Amino acid sequence: PNTDNIGASTVDLNQQLFDRAKTIIPGGVNSPVRAFRAVGGTPRFVQRAQGAHFWDANAKRYIDYIGSWGPMILGHGHPAVVDAVQRAVTEGFSYGAPTEREIDLAQAIIDLVPSIEMVRLVSSGTEAAMSAIRLARGATGRSKFIKFEGCYHGHADALLVKAGSGLATFGNPTSAGVPPEVVQHTLVLEYNNLTQLEEAFALHGAELACVMIEPIAGNMNFVRASVPFMKRCRELCTQHGALLVFDEVMTGFRVALGGAQSIYAKHIPGFAPDISVLGKVIGGGMPLAAFGGRRSVMEMLAPLGPVYQAGTLSGNPVATACGLATLQEISRPGFFDTLASHTRELVDGLKAAANACGVPFSADSEGGMFGFFLLPQLPQNYATVMTSDGPRFNRLFHGLLDRGVYIAPALYEAGFVSAAHSTDDIAQTVAAAREVFEAL
Ligand code: PLP
Repeated sequence: PNTDNIGASTVDLNQQLFDRAKTIIPGGVNSPVRAFRAVGGTPRFVQRAQGAHFWDANAKRYIDYIGSWGPMILGHGHPAVVDAVQRAVTEGFSYGAPTEREIDLAQAIIDLVPSIEMVRLVSSGTEAAMSAIRLARGATGRSKFIKFEGCYHGHADALLVKAGSGLATFGNPTSAGVPPEVVQHTLVLEYNNLTQLEEAFALHGAELACVMIEPIAGNMNFVRASVPFMKRCRELCTQHGALLVFDEVMTGFRVALGGAQSIYAKHIPGFAPDISVLGKVIGGGMPLAAFGGRRSVMEMLAPLGPVYQAGTLSGNPVATACGLATLQEISRPGFFDTLASHTRELVDGLKAAANACGVPFSADSEGGMFGFFLLPQLPQNYATVMTSDGPRFNRLFHGLLDRGVYIAPALYEAGFVSAAHSTDDIAQTVAAAREVFEAL
């Protein structure tokens, strides 16, 4: 296999694979955004990956800013993680009976996230978020909950609610196949809108099981919940007996070792969510996710309590080995300082390149997560994110792709830097972006 941006073949092997895939897999992909529908063109089929790079079917190399949509915080094929997984595999793939490694991983999570006193392991973020809602409903005996426009919490029915629903009306399903009755208890509010939040609690406070939020929303690119907004979310939940559920599937162990909640806790004394939903980094690229929180709430779960939740592959021994090795590596002193400074280097470089070319641009980052917008100012909510210039973003995306830089194929997705991204990778990315900005 060659190593650099060669892509010498005249036959597009990505296209060949895509054509084949489309005949037997809906849209040719197993998760919709991979199909490049938003940006057009042919999805890159990955052959292999190492460090900050992957190679497509044409053996063309890309600098990878998706990292499996967040999990690969150490880069691909980190030796300590590979070693842990290889050792685990030789001991068996799955038992359906408990293992010591599950306790070790639960303990590692609890040690890193102080608001979590007990944790349950599952296999995907969707499962974790869905279970957290069930737990919040079971623990409070209430049905309604609040989510925010532009926040994605996986594809469980009650969470797949049309963005843009107004305050007074409960949500409409975003997907066919979700009966309206199933989402009649899902109240969708605008992110960062204090007035709507106050009104929703004034109207429905006593009926609310929880507020579920992505504290730094990574599914409308990168939008932070403001500190006053988060503080009010916490206060209102406490006042009305609703639980605050942090969906840190993306931000957990990614924006900081203690997740986004550790950042809000610096600004809001005593701040803690009641339930946290985790995924991505805790599995290090294997199917693993979790939800955890206060002991009194978590003890509502079966087999202790009345809230049912289960999984054939939950706490899988290979996945837990991968997750544990990943958490060990990111817990090393200085890990997040270096990661955050590399990420800032990228973001600052992109900003400078865009400014030099007169392209309206704003960008933000926290730890190893970043977002940028072809907008002069950082948006505060989904509606503003969606005012971005889509065709222009698509030209930027393809310009970067041609130059061997792989960013998310949609303007409403965050990006991820790993510990394997070198200063040289970042410099190459900024130089590529500069060329593309000049032509935008
Ligand atoms: N919650 C958030 C914040 C996410 O970003 C995602 C996935 O991107 C999910 C939940 C769903 O996780 P999964 O794709 O593992 O089901």
